[in-house]
Amino acid sequence: MNVKKAIVNAGILFFLLSIWLQGMTQLPRHRVCGFELNDTTAGDSKIFSPIHQELADNIRTNRSSVTIPVVFHLVYKNVNENIPDQVLVRQLEYLNRDFNGLNSDLANVPDHFKNLVGRANIRFCLASRDPSGFPTSGVVRIRTSMERIGVKEELHYTSRGGSDAWDTERYLNVWIADTGENIVGFGTAPGQRTEKEDGVVIHRDYLDVKGPSRTLTHEVGHYLGLFHMWNDECKDVDFVKDTPAQEYPYYGCPKKERGTCGNKDMFMNFMDYTDHDCMYFFTKGQVHRMEKILAMYRPGLMRVETNCQTDKRDAEFILFPNPWLSGSDLTIRFSNPVLMDLQLYNAAGVLVFKEKKLVARDYDCRFQLGASGVYFLAINGKWQRLVAL
Ligand SMILES: [Zn+2]
Repeated sequence: MNVKKAIVNAGILFFLLSIWLQGMTQLPRHRVCGFELNDTTAGDSKIFSPIHQELADNIRTNRSSVTIPVVFHLVYKNVNENIPDQVLVRQLEYLNRDFNGLNSDLANVPDHFKNLVGRANIRFCLASRDPSGFPTSGVVRIRTSMERIGVKEELHYTSRGGSDAWDTERYLNVWIADTGENIVGFGTAPGQRTEKEDGVVIHRDYLDVKGPSRTLTHEVGHYLGLFHMWNDECKDVDFVKDTPAQEYPYYGCPKKERGTCGNKDMFMNFMDYTDHDCMYFFTKGQVHRMEKILAMYRPGLMRVETNCQTDKRDAEFILFPNPWLSGSDLTIRFSNPVLMDLQLYNAAGVLVFKEKKLVARDYDCRFQLGASGVYFLAINGKWQRLVAL
């Protein structure tokens, strides 16, 4: 059986599994990624070929760090699905920790796998410029009327109720949308889908979680060319030498060492299906493959470091008008896109207003103060005096 067929067969298996899961009302939702399901309808991708691996082995990757700009497309139906900016920023930070081996739970990797832990020189940032060069917060919010849009082609088209991809050669597009009951998300391998549909899709429930969302880490792994590690014939189908062959995926949080195919299984790897807080690492081989796939098939992502925010805390701001009439519009203008953490204190040091928000350039707010006088506005550690009339 060739590799592509094996993957397609795995896809059929998971399709059947998903139907079975749908029929089980009491069963907890497993983390099932739509990567294989997606693959059964996708065109040929060069990275499924073993020949590709030989080519990849001869490519030297540049070991200097790469920063990839990310745009989040939040496509939601109900208001409660509209995830706050802070969650997105935090999950991006977790993604960076996971890719760079800086996650605090890395110590949980079993001793027999510790020497295989890989650290990618890949970072992710919120895009600070849109494709036309204008300042942006890196988050697009679209309210849609479509049910389960996350598993529909419409997701990728604004005119059809979704959100258009930003230039997929220059941005990692992450759509957050309802992908239904059984799929937590999927990531497209290079060439697997058309360029307008290239990127990562995550179910909102699997992004807005307590702690790191490993769904994002897992799907970005697919986006950079990683496969799942298991195969029911115990064959090495992921083109990575240091991940042991494994017969099936693991769910939940296995506590004990377990094995199939004559190996100790690496179920705590980000490319398995275990719970968010029970997967901890990519191997050196996986990191090597991602870096090569990036260099070969997604080189545009490596050319746009200036498109990332540098240090969000350093954004300068001005206030106008100042003096300002309480209850009228107050504009705060930033020099860079910023995750604004605003607090307003009165002259006695009492907090009277606060707001946390991702801002591209201008933030217009309107609020009423109890008394006129001098106030002090703190944003991300910088202070300005505001005179209220
Ligand atoms: Zn997957």
